[in-house]
Amino acid sequence: MNSKIWLSSPHMGGQEFNFVKEAFDTNWIAPLGPHVNNFEHDLEAFTGSKYAAALSSGTAAIHLALIMLGIQSGDEVICQSFTFSASANPIAYLGATPIFIDSEPETWNMSPGLLEEAIIDRINKGKKPKAIIPVHLYGMPAKIEQISKIAAKYDIPVIEDAAEALGSTVNGKAAGTLGAIGILSFNGNKIITTSGGGAIISDNKQFVEKARFLATQARDAAPHYQHSQIGYNYRMSNVCAGIGRGQMMVLEDHIAKRRNVYKTYTEQLADIAAISFLPEPASYFSNRWLSTILIDPSKSDGITRETIRLELEKDNIESRPLWKPMHLQPVFEDCPSYIDGTSEELFNKGLCLPSGSNLTEVEVQRVIDIIKNVFQQQ
Ligand SMILES: *Cc1c(COP(=O)(O)O)cnc(C)c1O
Repeated sequence: MNSKIWLSSPHMGGQEFNFVKEAFDTNWIAPLGPHVNNFEHDLEAFTGSKYAAALSSGTAAIHLALIMLGIQSGDEVICQSFTFSASANPIAYLGATPIFIDSEPETWNMSPGLLEEAIIDRINKGKKPKAIIPVHLYGMPAKIEQISKIAAKYDIPVIEDAAEALGSTVNGKAAGTLGAIGILSFNGNKIITTSGGGAIISDNKQFVEKARFLATQARDAAPHYQHSQIGYNYRMSNVCAGIGRGQMMVLEDHIAKRRNVYKTYTEQLADIAAISFLPEPASYFSNRWLSTILIDPSKSDGITRETIRLELEKDNIESRPLWKPMHLQPVFEDCPSYIDGTSEELFNKGLCLPSGSNLTEVEVQRVIDIIKNVFQQQ
């Protein structure tokens, strides 16, 4: 059996263990400590965001962002449909209703046209949505300038889900810094990992201070434990932040390597007419967290993304269909949605290829050769 090739696996740079050892040596094995503070400073410096709070996960970050924006039971929150369920689950934690918006074909993210249509329709039905969650999927930034304009027109705050897009930019500005609040994830398969973790970033000091307060059980200033609000245990530990500090030292390198994996796929698979990629619109920069392909059924002679996925699996290579849209998920099927078929089509035609920054040239070639073979045998 050939060695396993993962879709996207953790990739340590070398310094992580020294930071973790420092945490042990100084006995800072707590959800507080110097690594947490320094990791936050690293994130601020890298993204250009004024403030960052390191948390236990990206999901926790979205949950806190919604709480800080005052989302309550019965409220409506607009969310991109084409995403991972963690973008939408925190809306449900609060008893609020997600309103799902389909994608546009240029970035595969929230369609500004459908967004405005939805806002107008929700207002006409009697409820103005309380927040908008666009997602920068696979590292490709959403049409955030248009989305922000619409959000400003109706005075609705934007929470950018940049869990997959650390290092991506629009006009030189970092994904996650273009709305009221941005969220990041450092889960094991993301572009950098703290083994599990996330962050809130914002230029609004109050939001970030409030996030830290809520994430550490909402303790009031008193010598005893006093609480006047419901708190959460959502802070990142100093040990995990040590891993994060080491990962920040190799983030630029990870982005360059992932972009290179994408480039190799585009060059080597260019001759296969049925395969298309997701190019960057002008002034957009994607970290290429995952390289994705679409298979056009009118040119593929019966080959589907499933044909390719199964052939790769036979050779011990992990690939995955694109995210199944939230409006098609059983758990969200009763939620209102504004849909034109784009994300469903992407789901049906699309496949994520192995994309890790730790892939060797030989491994990328193994993937390419199998895909080429599938098409040569038709
Ligand atoms: C990974 C991810 C999250 C959640 O982050 P966790 O750290 O795993 O909780 C949220 N949204 C998107 C789009 C993601 O890919």
